[in-house]
Amino acid sequence: VSVVNRIAAGEVIQRPVSAVKELIENSLDARSTAINVAVKDGGLKLIQVSDDGHGIRYEDLPILCERHTTSKLSTFEDLQTVKSMGFRGEALASMTYVAHVTVTTITEGQLHGYRVSYRDGVMEHEPKACAAVKGTQIMVENLFYNMVARRKTLQNSADDYSKIVDLLSRFAIHHIGLSFSCRKHGAARADVHTIATSSRLDAIKSVYGVSVAHNLLKVEARDDDPSSSIFEMNGFISNASYSAKKTTMVLFINDRLVECTALKRAMEVVYAATLPKASKPFIYMAITLPPEHVDVNIHPTKREVSLLSQEVIIGNIQSVVESKLRNSNE
Ligand code: ADP
Ligand code: MG
Repeated sequence: VSVVNRIAAGEVIQRPVSAVKELIENSLDARSTAINVAVKDGGLKLIQVSDDGHGIRYEDLPILCERHTTSKLSTFEDLQTVKSMGFRGEALASMTYVAHVTVTTITEGQLHGYRVSYRDGVMEHEPKACAAVKGTQIMVENLFYNMVARRKTLQNSADDYSKIVDLLSRFAIHHIGLSFSCRKHGAARADVHTIATSSRLDAIKSVYGVSVAHNLLKVEARDDDPSSSIFEMNGFISNASYSAKKTTMVLFINDRLVECTALKRAMEVVYAATLPKASKPFIYMAITLPPEHVDVNIHPTKREVSLLSQEVIIGNIQSVVESKLRNSNE
């Protein structure tokens, strides 16, 4: 097996939470309505993601974990605009180079499902018929078993688990029409558990608690002047009564969970200037932009984005947030 493949895979999957994110995005792509995650040993021993999505066809199983072969790369347009979340066709492949991956899946109208394990991009055996409920379950076991140095840097399983809980929390307050859960494998109690709702505030309350949900202001911004940047923003931001030790910024751009450090800093600046006593805010924002205005490629893990006409957009959001905070504080 090529060491190069393993090293490349280790770049895509940097820690357990990166694998969980890729698996959840695949479940979302598959139009799931319920996504359940179970984790052992911070994800190093086991990550299990179960969904009720459309499943994977039998004939797709042999190539499922090959790099760059999957459906999402099939059209040039997809590559340019990144409409769905998966677009590089290498997340599952990468996992098979640094872990043991087992897929159990059933597609609509089938009497039984299939289970198959993968290593280093290929199936370890023919898919075996098995009982299955609707959707797909993916188990990633012994993550980084073949990367001794990486395992050494990931000794704190509580820390990795809390990153996974944090990730699930973020997905759950954005995709409020779906149900999510996240638990330690075998635990009766889930650490994140949401049911489908139509109320964003209810979702935030159930995930982040009353103290957050009761101190939020609704914000909206849009700019449809075709000569500038076409965008829309909806969100909830904390008010003067909320205080925390650090900023929580949950940001979705075109339904993708991302980080935008420039926007986060800009928000902290507005809070520091407007509500100095509550300067570590909680912020949830969902932004919609033409896909070609979002550059997701500046970081290998696709988290940090940069935006076309970023300064205009951030300036616009800053002024909306600032006036909201001033009005609420009068
Ligand atoms: P990408 O998402 O970029 O296409 P992945 O390696 O993440 O690449 O997934 C490969 C393919 O496997 C997906 O395109 C999809 O067709 C299929 N797939 C993966 N996970 C699921 C799932 N949970 N349900 C249905 N199909 C899935
Ligand atoms: Mg994917």
